[in-house]
Amino acid sequence: MSNDGATAVSNVAIAVIGDGCAGLSFAAQSENLPNHTMHLFSPQPNSPKNNHVWGYWQMDWMKFVAPLTFKTWYKWSVITADTEVEMQACHHPYKAVKRDGWLAHCRKNAKQNGVQFHNDMSSIAEFSNERVFDSRPPKWRANMMVQHFLGWEVRADAGSFKDGTAILMDFRCDQSRGVHFIYCLPFSDSEALVESTLLSPNIERDEFYEGAISTWLSDCAGINRFEVLRSEQGAIPLGLMKRHDPNYHGIGGNCGAIRPSSGYAFSFIQKQIAVALSRVASGKELSFSTPHKKIDLFMDRVFLSVLRNQPHYAPTLFAAMAARLTGDEFAIFLSGEANIKLRLKVITAMPVWPFVRALFRMEAVASG
Ligand SMILES: Cc1cc2nc3c(=O)[nH]c(=O)nc-3n(C[C@H](O)[C@H](O)[C@H](O)COP(=O)(O)OP(=O)(O)OC[C@H]3O[C@@H](n4cnc5c(N)ncnc54)[C@H](O)[C@@H]3O)c2cc1C
Repeated sequence: MSNDGATAVSNVAIAVIGDGCAGLSFAAQSENLPNHTMHLFSPQPNSPKNNHVWGYWQMDWMKFVAPLTFKTWYKWSVITADTEVEMQACHHPYKAVKRDGWLAHCRKNAKQNGVQFHNDMSSIAEFSNERVFDSRPPKWRANMMVQHFLGWEVRADAGSFKDGTAILMDFRCDQSRGVHFIYCLPFSDSEALVESTLLSPNIERDEFYEGAISTWLSDCAGINRFEVLRSEQGAIPLGLMKRHDPNYHGIGGNCGAIRPSSGYAFSFIQKQIAVALSRVASGKELSFSTPHKKIDLFMDRVFLSVLRNQPHYAPTLFAAMAARLTGDEFAIFLSGEANIKLRLKVITAMPVWPFVRALFRMEAVASG
């Protein structure tokens, strides 16, 4: 069953648990995994109610996703009570793909590649634990920071939205419960996804997010008449977590793919899979690892500490970063591809004291 070294030719049976983003994205690429037979276990199938939009920045490893995207923005903005920063990208636009469309595409490719699907876990014991890759969600730590949100896809009168510009963060909303912003992806001048997003340890009642969306639509976008076409909701844990089952290897969010400072995962999962496949192509064992660099994880830890303990700084920090970077630099930084020069540019755009306080606080927690 081993495929150690470049000389191995025997067939390796592997099992993947979960048919979400990581499980199906990986299964769709099984043709790039010669000498392996893949079995996908989905004991808790995805519900169509889980459909939502994945936003990501175009990067080299995402080129194969592009044909399935339904909207691309070269401009995006960060808005606070005092300022509006619009950024423009040339090479790394922001793109949107629908979860159900992407998963259906992956499932079709996986079936064509001969991946075998199982609706229950009864035969998982036939695989050695070393050959099982588990994408079920990792275990949350108590009181951890969470990105939680509720979004409405709305239809309003023509001319209601500026559809060439995505609003990544508009902080003109209630800041009393943690870092709170409105995320607005305009699909056309009359339809948009409008999300109320919080970064805090406490999930709010639906009415809180719904009230924030309605207030933003009327007070900031000047829209009083609209129809809700669809809603989506989520809670993404931010920070390091333990694997769902320590007996199995992880993949996806269960293997550190969620970026701790932003909650973005879609692009990082594709990157994680691309790295794993290239390792196999160079003769190594199949294995997955976090797609984030150590330096990014450290910077994210400090940044999260600022957001958690000094949330009132959030509008200033995000607006300062947006003002200092070009659209392409912003996309590269958030996609984990920054070089030292770009990291320094981000660091020097930030006010010093919130970060010094956060570092001391982290130090005190670590030694206390
Ligand atoms: C509404 C919403 C919007 C989002 N928007 C974005 C975005 O714009 N950009 C971005 O990058 N990321 C976004 N994310 C985050 C991203 O979608 C997730 O982090 C990503 O789906 C993680 O992929 P995964 O394969 O690790 O987990 P999942 O896609 O959640 O797959 C996990 C699989 O495990 C199965 N499962 C779960 N529990 C069990 C169990 N106990 N037993 C058996 N099976 C189980 C599930 O059915 C599922 O098939 C969003 C998330 C949500 C919920």
